[in-house]
Amino acid sequence: MTSKRLTVGCHLSTSDGYAAMGSTAVSIDATTFAFFTLNPRGGNAKALDPADVAALRDTLETEGFGKLVAHAPYTMNLCSAKAETIDFARRAMAGDLERMEALPGNYYNFHPGSHVKQGADVGIELICAGLNEVLVPGQATIVLLETMAGKGSEVGRTFEELARILDGVQHDELMGVCLDTCHVWDGGYDVVGALDQVLDEFDQVVGLERLKALHLNDSKNPLGSHKDRHACLGEGHLGLEAFRQIVNHPALRGLPMILETPGGMEGYEREIALLRSFAGEKPRESVSRAEEVGA
Ligand code: FE
Ligand code: FE
Ligand code: ZN
Repeated sequence: MTSKRLTVGCHLSTSDGYAAMGSTAVSIDATTFAFFTLNPRGGNAKALDPADVAALRDTLETEGFGKLVAHAPYTMNLCSAKAETIDFARRAMAGDLERMEALPGNYYNFHPGSHVKQGADVGIELICAGLNEVLVPGQATIVLLETMAGKGSEVGRTFEELARILDGVQHDELMGVCLDTCHVWDGGYDVVGALDQVLDEFDQVVGLERLKALHLNDSKNPLGSHKDRHACLGEGHLGLEAFRQIVNHPALRGLPMILETPGGMEGYEREIALLRSFAGEKPRESVSRAEEVGA
């Protein structure tokens, strides 16, 4: 049986440009990656260099990458209590999505936001209003709501809140969800002991067809802690067995899986190899050697 390899990768820095992210990803056997389209601390994004983007697109195609999962800046809050913060968030997202048109057919993930004492209802309304202003019908990027840990006043800890946001977006064909394993665990969903039940619940409340990507992180804290502290795979409360189950689950196996663990590039490379071994894949070297001899 020859099934497609896992689409797995990690968060990469844009500091050396887009083509460099592609080569770095290839060097660690990644077949997707995440990156900030804007500086995570905000500020102005450099204009994209068309040659640099074209070189990345070439790598993505020749190396058979899956969909990329860009990440919006953390400072972006579509449901802030301050009008200027909302305005910044909407402009930042619109600019990001415009830049993403140069890499069509990928994902753009964002944290729904923090309602800062306005309450979740107001937060959800503001998030929907922002998305309804920013999304452009026919755009080449699907925007993903990230599941959150429920730290502070974060919106999007429960599947119900995510569903309410999706319900309020006019062009919901442009929307999906990215499930972060550390966040849902910290948010109280037992993806270790009850993965099937959690996915059933997601299916009933949101719809599994909305699930487009995963962030694979272990958690430094116990179930329901609402903390959001990532750990390397196997070094937190989820444990390695959870990730073996997750990568092999029929509802999850084909999705892009992004590591956001704290082990640096060496850690990422090790974790990608580990996840591939969980999925029964050979390391890349032996794959290409087998191809060379016509196996
Ligand atoms: Fe995130
Ligand atoms: Fe995440
Ligand atoms: Zn997180």
